[in-house]
Amino acid sequence: MSPELRNCSICGRLFGYQQGRTVCSRCREQEEEQYMKVRRYVRDHPGATVFEVAEETGVDEELILQFLREGRLQSKGFVEVLQCQRCGAHIDSGNYCANCLRELDSQIRGVISPARSKPAAPEKRASRDRMHIKDQS
Ligand SMILES: [Zn+2]
Ligand SMILES: [Zn+2]
Repeated sequence: MSPELRNCSICGRLFGYQQGRTVCSRCREQEEEQYMKVRRYVRDHPGATVFEVAEETGVDEELILQFLREGRLQSKGFVEVLQCQRCGAHIDSGNYCANCLRELDSQIRGVISPARSKPAAPEKRASRDRMHIKDQS
């Protein structure tokens, strides 16, 4: 009946394990404080980078990233963290910007329903480009 005991991943103290918790309540509280600090800073300085926020608040960069990963922080303020994985555009959430999402989506659709017309008629092209054929090969 006694709660499962775990070592806090930060201070190593034993604590009664609760679902999803890897740190003791004391560290959790500290984390919460740091979270509030970060939150406040980002609210006052929208567009701040993680590095900047870490510098200004004294909160560990890793912890800030963790907040972001957990979705506890609005990513809006962190322009350097969330970028489109395809073109690098700044995005508010997800992995891709709206443009790339649209493109990827149409690409996927093209794969599913094969567009036969896609290989731009190589013969026709070759005959039209005949003058340049010596430059090839
Ligand atoms: Zn602890
Ligand atoms: Zn993009």
